[in-house]
Amino acid sequence: MSGKRTFTMIKPDAVESGNIGNILQMISNAGFSIKAMKFTQLSEERAKAFYAVHAERPFYGKLVDYMSSGPIVAAILEKDNAVEDFRTLIGSTDPAEAAEGTIRKIYAESKGRNAVHGSDSDENAKIEGEFHFYANEVI
Ligand code: UDP
Ligand code: MG
Repeated sequence: MSGKRTFTMIKPDAVESGNIGNILQMISNAGFSIKAMKFTQLSEERAKAFYAVHAERPFYGKLVDYMSSGPIVAAILEKDNAVEDFRTLIGSTDPAEAAEGTIRKIYAESKGRNAVHGSDSDENAKIEGEFHFYANEVI
């Protein structure tokens, strides 16, 4: 059975462009509730660790620089079928390919600077949530 929780980050480009509120509104309107949330910034080391699965990819260095370049909002979200439904809400990695009405279609600048992160599996949602939050910070 699919899980009820996923993990998201509002990425530096969307924070910089003043869209935290707009994106949280879309998340809320889509039926997700917030179980933990913080405004924070990843160090280069923490960004490297978070994206370690992509370490061999050509875009890894740029991704780490971007994700550590400014503040982010990290949050754990709850809804039935959370992982899959949140991926649908955010749209494809590249906003040029994202469906109309998705968060990335509306707010992402490019495939690299793409406004939001969404976990790709229940297992990764748990790992990523625990990367950012202590158990006593999660409702
Ligand atoms: N990314 C990039 N270039 C690419 C693919 C990915 O810069 O060709 C960045 C982008 O910010 C993306 C992140 O690396 O969100 C993680 O990539 P992934 O394939 O996991 O995409 P996502 O799951 O975020 O849609
Ligand atoms: Mg991914």
